[in-house]
Amino acid sequence: MTRIKDALDAVAAAVIARKDYLTSLDAKTGDGDHGLNMARGFRAAQEAVEEMDDTSQPGPVLQAVGKALIRNVGGAAGPLYGAGFVKAGEACDAETRLNVASIEKLLRAAIEAIQARGRAEKGDKTMLDVLIPIHDCFLPEHAEDKPLFEVLQEASKAAGEGVNYTKTIIARKGRASLVGERSIGIEDPGAVSSMIMYRALYQFLK
Ligand code: ADP
Ligand code: MG
Ligand code: MG
Repeated sequence: MTRIKDALDAVAAAVIARKDYLTSLDAKTGDGDHGLNMARGFRAAQEAVEEMDDTSQPGPVLQAVGKALIRNVGGAAGPLYGAGFVKAGEACDAETRLNVASIEKLLRAAIEAIQARGRAEKGDKTMLDVLIPIHDCFLPEHAEDKPLFEVLQEASKAAGEGVNYTKTIIARKGRASLVGERSIGIEDPGAVSSMIMYRALYQFLK
């Protein structure tokens, strides 16, 4: 995975490009800062990785990204995404290669970290409503013996469905939970940022 730094650049560029959209979504049910938070965090992540001597291993790169997100995103999403990247990085080792099984393992580690901190479940209208369906595509029972590109594509579709699902439900976690029924009809900003990150990675890999 020597291209991990290029993959990060692709994800960062996608998040930064959608900054205003993410912020406008968050303005409807929250405090209108999600895009600003995420763009600031990914710029900091790129700078942190730029300063690393060795970016050949995915583990340390993912951990550096996570720490930069924790320090710079702020809000609810920063510590959650940050912990997710740190734990995904810790789940890598020198033998880690890009395949269905390794992606499943990294996503599982990230989701566990996010749930350990945020205590949200699927259906609470958060980033998890996208991250969990993406992850589930990589489980052996779903992925079977399909080629990686096919599973990556299915997960991209699942991400879009997850975002649409968040439109239909009431937020039960984070600031959007304060607006109650008014959150119906509006996508969750964190669900959208998760979709943007995943799809940027998918476009990069395919
Ligand atoms: P803040 O709400 O503090 O301003 P952001 O706007 O950056 O933070 O992020 C909001 C997003 O964080 C939400 O759209 C949601 O997806 C996610 N989020 C909030 N609380 C939780 C939680 N407990 N678990 C998972 N995700 C959460
Ligand atoms: Mg916000
Ligand atoms: Mg905020």
